[in-house]
Amino acid sequence: MSFDPHAARREFPILGRQVHGKPLIYLDSAASAQKPRAVIEAMSGAMEHAYANVHRGIHTLANETTEAYERARESVRRLLGAGSVNEIVFTKGTTEAINLVASSFGQSLKAGDEIVLSQMEHHANIVPWHFLRERLGVVLRFAPVTDDGRLDLEGYRALLGPRTRMVAISHMSNVLGTINPVAEIIADAHAAGALVLLDGAQAVVHSRVDVRALDVDFYAFSGHKLYGPTGIGALYGKAELLASLPPYQGGGEMIGIVSEEQITYADPPHRFEAGTPPILEAVGLGAAVDWLMALDRDAVAAHEHALYDRVKERLNGANWITEIGTAPGKGAIFSFAMEGAHAHDVAQILDRYGIAVRAGTHCAEPLMRRFGMTSSARASFALYNTLEEADAFAEALTKTRTFFA
Ligand code: PMP
Repeated sequence: MSFDPHAARREFPILGRQVHGKPLIYLDSAASAQKPRAVIEAMSGAMEHAYANVHRGIHTLANETTEAYERARESVRRLLGAGSVNEIVFTKGTTEAINLVASSFGQSLKAGDEIVLSQMEHHANIVPWHFLRERLGVVLRFAPVTDDGRLDLEGYRALLGPRTRMVAISHMSNVLGTINPVAEIIADAHAAGALVLLDGAQAVVHSRVDVRALDVDFYAFSGHKLYGPTGIGALYGKAELLASLPPYQGGGEMIGIVSEEQITYADPPHRFEAGTPPILEAVGLGAAVDWLMALDRDAVAAHEHALYDRVKERLNGANWITEIGTAPGKGAIFSFAMEGAHAHDVAQILDRYGIAVRAGTHCAEPLMRRFGMTSSARASFALYNTLEEADAFAEALTKTRTFFA
């Protein structure tokens, strides 16, 4: 198999539009990716043909909708290489998945227990752990990041100890593009007796994930970055771990028996899916996963790398651009500062050329501080971007520079 980005982008209706009279060049997929027809049609098709509430129904539509919802769980199981659908919990996204683990697993923690994070974490993988620091006196330790944006493995290992209970680290950085050596991270954490949660929000989009081969305990991701809808994501958890966790939220569907005196809980994954779930969004996510998995994912990854390489080649070492994150083998994310310019101004001028990039702290303030920056601009590439767009971006950057030089 191979991959044709021009054919793939025709599946994304929005990419045909213009911005400020210019063809849209969408380089903000790390924040949220655009949606292919397969997703749009799966969701509208469900609303038009097979929609009702899930699980509690006897009637045909309820059963059909439940089947569609559970089929989406099977798609996510395949995406992550999990052994059982019961290890896949639908959540609102990465943020909720991490909050679920911090909240439920956190109930077993005591003052002085340690959580190891890294300096390159998104706030979604920092703040829920801070809650435990504030509430329980849990200690947070941050593994250092090297100047080129790698996780400092020695520094990480030095933080592991007898009180380490959890290592929670991003699989791929949303700012630096760094892909962390997760197999080593996991093996070291397990040797220290700690569990591992990987924030897969970025990595799952660009690489093949196999939670069983990794032996990871928890894996979190969001649908909307994976060409699916917002409002849905998933948490993978090893069966025996999920079974040991108390519920996260209470309500319908997550119970065994409820009486006036007592409650019992359903088994995972339903124990963690209180209330009516995001049904249409699950259907959309299932469609996104199926669509993505039908592609040659290695060829897609090679294409995305080629886009990043092309931008670097076109900029040809321009000394007015400072890139943060140059780790070997990194993913297709280009975070930079332009000499003399604020990142927001850079993003605004690029928008006039029809180019969408993000500017700010990227919800990673500790990382920004690590690099002595208050913000950066970020171009993030997806499978539907083309080499021509990479060229246009580099050219627009050169023009943008004239406003500040
Ligand atoms: N982690 C990483 C690495 C991310 O890139 C993001 C989204 N920017 C998140 C977590 C949070 O994802 P969400 O907002 O979809 O919950």
